[in-house]
Amino acid sequence: MYYNSILETIGNTPLVKLNEVTKEFEGTILAKVEYFNPGQSVKDRIGLKMIEDAEEKGLIEPGGTIIEGTSGNTGMGLALAATIKGYDCIFTTTDKQSKAKIDLLRALGAEVKICPTDVEPDDPRSYYSVAKRLSEEIPNSYYPNQYDNPSNTQAHYETTGPEIWEQTEGKVTHYVAGMGTGGTVSGTSKYLKEQNAEIKTVGVDSEGSVYKHYFETGEFDKDEIHPYLTEGIGEDIIPENMDFDLLDEVIQVNDKNAFQMTRKLAKKEGLFVGGSCGAAVYGALEYARNNNFGKDDTMVIILPDSGTRYVSKIYNDEWMDEHGFLDSDE
Ligand code: PMP
Repeated sequence: MYYNSILETIGNTPLVKLNEVTKEFEGTILAKVEYFNPGQSVKDRIGLKMIEDAEEKGLIEPGGTIIEGTSGNTGMGLALAATIKGYDCIFTTTDKQSKAKIDLLRALGAEVKICPTDVEPDDPRSYYSVAKRLSEEIPNSYYPNQYDNPSNTQAHYETTGPEIWEQTEGKVTHYVAGMGTGGTVSGTSKYLKEQNAEIKTVGVDSEGSVYKHYFETGEFDKDEIHPYLTEGIGEDIIPENMDFDLLDEVIQVNDKNAFQMTRKLAKKEGLFVGGSCGAAVYGALEYARNNNFGKDDTMVIILPDSGTRYVSKIYNDEWMDEHGFLDSDE
């Protein structure tokens, strides 16, 4: 048996039971480990889907250029699909991202432009604006725009949701995912709630993002926005892929708690994962504690990417110490 190209290995990632960090609970807590995708993240699913849908709609011609603003993982997913399908890629990203993520994109032949993090989204220097401008200037280019492109949510509705439903044999009662573009949480939650409307969905946000306040009040509060180091979750905009009606609760997690849990997942569960995974698990356990998560319950937590992209940060003691993320006994 063989696959016709690497693209056929995307999805069908394993569900793995958490045992050590979840000891206080009698119910079953499972992690969907997305680093088993060929680009080592959940974003392979949407990279392929956004390109396939664009081809179908005639939005991209052979030999064209794909241009996207990406924190790295979506770029990897797009670059994999583009390589196999014969497109060029230009990505814009922020100076907050790991160098390793940027080098990875370049390794797959993409051009990467680095833009400042601390500017308004509509500032012409922001990575959103630069991607948009390039897509207007470069002929035969396609700007997937993962934030507002419905193919993002649809990829999770068609793959992540059904996989979780089948892998738990319909026993899933709680679903937890970090919220970046919102595609993962919205698409998966939509599918799962269609199978069983009782399933609770928890979105995990970062302190410094607008989401939690927006979910709770319907108000976009600029004062909520401040810089943080967890990559991939939380936003300073409300993307179209973020459907708050599909959420039951939003939990905010700070960098320190996210990164300490990330290191625990590696040391205690053998799951060498990225910082948004620690945030998702920390947030999931906080929710479980406050909502009587019981012995008959089954929770599924999405772990979006791999630790390899964060070895010089979260997995580096000096970096953790410099930021005050280590406890005094560590
Ligand atoms: N974690 C990481 C590491 C990511 O790159 C992303 C994507 N921004 C997410 C979580 C959130 O996924 P989504 O964009 O589907 O909300």
